[in-house]
Amino acid sequence: MEKFDLAIVGASLAGNYLCYLLSNTDLKIAVIEEHKAIGLPFQCAGIVSQKLSRLVNLPNEIILNRVKTAKIIGPTGVYIKLSGNEKPYIIDRIAFDCFFFNKTKIHENVIYFLGEKFKKFEYKKDNHQKHILIETSKRKIKVRMLIGCDGPSSSIASLLGIKNKKLFATQIRIKARFNEDEAVMVFDKRWKELFGWIVPEGQQIYRIGIACSKNIANNFRIFLNKFDIDFQQKISQQGGLIPYGLMNRLSFDNIFLLGDSACQVKASTGGGIIMLLIAAKYAANCIKKCFAYDKFSKKTIQKYYENPCRSIVGRELKIHYLIRSILERFTTDNFYKLFQIIKSTKIENKISFYGDMDFPKALLFKLLKVPSVLSFFFKLILKNPKFIIRILKILMH
Ligand SMILES: Cc1cc2nc3c(=O)[nH]c(=O)nc-3n(C[C@H](O)[C@H](O)[C@H](O)COP(=O)(O)OP(=O)(O)OC[C@H]3O[C@@H](n4cnc5c(N)ncnc54)[C@H](O)[C@@H]3O)c2cc1C
Repeated sequence: MEKFDLAIVGASLAGNYLCYLLSNTDLKIAVIEEHKAIGLPFQCAGIVSQKLSRLVNLPNEIILNRVKTAKIIGPTGVYIKLSGNEKPYIIDRIAFDCFFFNKTKIHENVIYFLGEKFKKFEYKKDNHQKHILIETSKRKIKVRMLIGCDGPSSSIASLLGIKNKKLFATQIRIKARFNEDEAVMVFDKRWKELFGWIVPEGQQIYRIGIACSKNIANNFRIFLNKFDIDFQQKISQQGGLIPYGLMNRLSFDNIFLLGDSACQVKASTGGGIIMLLIAAKYAANCIKKCFAYDKFSKKTIQKYYENPCRSIVGRELKIHYLIRSILERFTTDNFYKLFQIIKSTKIENKISFYGDMDFPKALLFKLLKVPSVLSFFFKLILKNPKFIIRILKILMH
């Protein structure tokens, strides 16, 4: 039986970044990752707002491209182009995960167990202290704290009785001729739970994908046909899951969840990177506090992790979910009318899709100040009284 202060399950972005934030403490940390190589399999479109460089020291080699415009195409092909003063990054996601891993693995207090699957845990009492006994595919580990950074299909979340709703996502990388300064989002009833995307990686390579709740293969074929893309010409193909819904319960005695396992993902875009990086800072602070005060109860974890997370990240995630719930019910005509209003009021170049969409509350207020936008949403709600119940349910969650 090996003893550590804490175990982190999952060495993707959430696990590696959290570990990096704790690597200068004297905590003995075990990181358990089922894959042998960090960052693989690659499962990301890699588009992240400029906030990324305010949250972490971003090395240049991780940035592959930057885009100026978000082209949003509605179901009939009508589109708007949003271009505020923000240029989101297109990142090398594998290199980004490895960046924190390489900085962390050199610390003697951190041990990575790669190619090793977390299987289960149980609580144990020892000298009146609650411990956690972890079983992996290769060993047993005893810790005071367990952190679930094990992604959308988190085993830790499911052992704690939490079920994430998930969307299926698929993506190819392919040489093509689109605009290298533009990210494209395509809305369609068939993939209403998110959208289809075309993200320019640079060097004329594009990441093209969709996410939805069903018929992913067929929908992807339809999406590729819309843009005359020959699937056979792909350089590579990726698949993955995107958690969908509101942020989960985060805290339990001696345990908490971070990143996709906690559903810290923007339901309007499927993006999780910014949210998990913010949440990881609260997570690291909470772990330091738990060990400093020798308190590991759910109440302590709620105080130092869940509550600040809910008031910053959780509140915005609710608004993302609200936007998503409305978009899912949008008719072709609704898209058309809203796009016409945005074009006619000339706010297209004042909104930055990726920048403003991290914290959409401010964007919503900005939009609702425009009388024609306010009147559009007012009429929409009057026509669909069920929206009010839905909105109230989300806000009261
Ligand atoms: C197709 C696609 C495109 C995306 N595009 C974007 C984007 O453009 N911008 C953006 O911000 N976000 C995007 N996302 C979301 C983003 O990738 C995630 O939010 C982010 O990767 C979450 O990181 P994580 O560390 O929480 O979880 P994950 O990256 O899912 O990592 C979980 C880790 O846990 C490991 N693991 C799981 N179970 C076990 C176990 N039992 N034992 C040991 N190890 C285990 C896994 O192997 C994995 O390494 C996209 C997601 C997908 C699927």
